[in-house]
Amino acid sequence: MRVVDIREKSVDLSRYSDPTIPSGGLTTSIVAVLTDAVRHGKPVVGYGFSSMGRFAQGGLIRERFAPRLLKAGDVAPLQAWTAMMAGEKPGGHGERCVALGTLDMALWDAAAKIADLPLHAYLAQEFGAGNAVQAVPAYASGGYLYPADDASRLADEMKAFADAGYQRAKIKIGAATLDRDLARIDVAARAFGPNCLAVDAMNAYDAGQARVTARALGSRELMWFEDICDPLDFETLSAIAALYQGPIAAGEALFSSAEAKLLDRHGGLRRDRDILLFDPVHCYGLPGYVEIVLAMEERGWPRSAFWPHGGHVFCLHIASALGLGGVEVNPLSFPPFGGLADGAGIVDGRVVPPDAPGVGFEQKADLARLLASL
Ligand code: MG
Repeated sequence: MRVVDIREKSVDLSRYSDPTIPSGGLTTSIVAVLTDAVRHGKPVVGYGFSSMGRFAQGGLIRERFAPRLLKAGDVAPLQAWTAMMAGEKPGGHGERCVALGTLDMALWDAAAKIADLPLHAYLAQEFGAGNAVQAVPAYASGGYLYPADDASRLADEMKAFADAGYQRAKIKIGAATLDRDLARIDVAARAFGPNCLAVDAMNAYDAGQARVTARALGSRELMWFEDICDPLDFETLSAIAALYQGPIAAGEALFSSAEAKLLDRHGGLRRDRDILLFDPVHCYGLPGYVEIVLAMEERGWPRSAFWPHGGHVFCLHIASALGLGGVEVNPLSFPPFGGLADGAGIVDGRVVPPDAPGVGFEQKADLARLLASL
């Protein structure tokens, strides 16, 4: 395919189902990649967005990566990736990895549409090597601290997850006092039971806070304890891994295979229980993510340890195609990007990706409307 035009826009993003609750001005980029390919009488358009949590990337997309992609000629997604990275030096990922991952998502959407395959089937051909699974273990993610009526709104949110069929959930901690966080955990555990509940500290703790919190959580047998300290503070992470016996989840804010190897070497993580969260969009897109998966496999990590951050259908396709451990779903947060296709259900704690060609954005009406506005 040849990319003939690229449209890009920054849009507001909310951590809450109610977008009027402030989310610190969070944004994401949406992109449309128009190709010269025609299917079913229409030009093929691939769509992408910058996943969640790291703001929009319009400047980098407009100034560096889109112009290179437009000049790349007739390319498949992997060749397009190489063309977009032309002249970039190793290291110093900043957030260029997110800008690149945004366009990369749109390229895979377009390539799978051209092949007339749902993305998971297309990726299983490209990368799967027999690991593909149809139904992926999933958990419902959310539980951000509400500025008012937190306990009752959190309870309502957990009930909505359980009513939708989710058997596991994750909530945020680290933004309130420890006592209040422990009370929040009790609220969520009433809906899911502690070993089906993960907590995410969003990298909030220094060494002392991490130690105190780990001791307080130690007896609760949580599903996992996520994003404990600064992503590169391996000294603190390894100290916590030495004193906290339950599973730890890390890697969400690391963006390259070199960083992943450092996490493995210095973070104290345990391959028999810990969870790797790398976000496929934030890690320079799928080519960068696959490089991380293969590098960690080579170092002895099982694929079942990978539960990618994101909470949207692009990551669901990847988890299905690569046979990863499971996937985050944001049923209520980050509308209209989070969650599953319209009408998709959860069966025995597992979810299946959309069966439309490409990512299947077209099966999620609110998101499809936003993307089509490009
Ligand atoms: Mg996290």
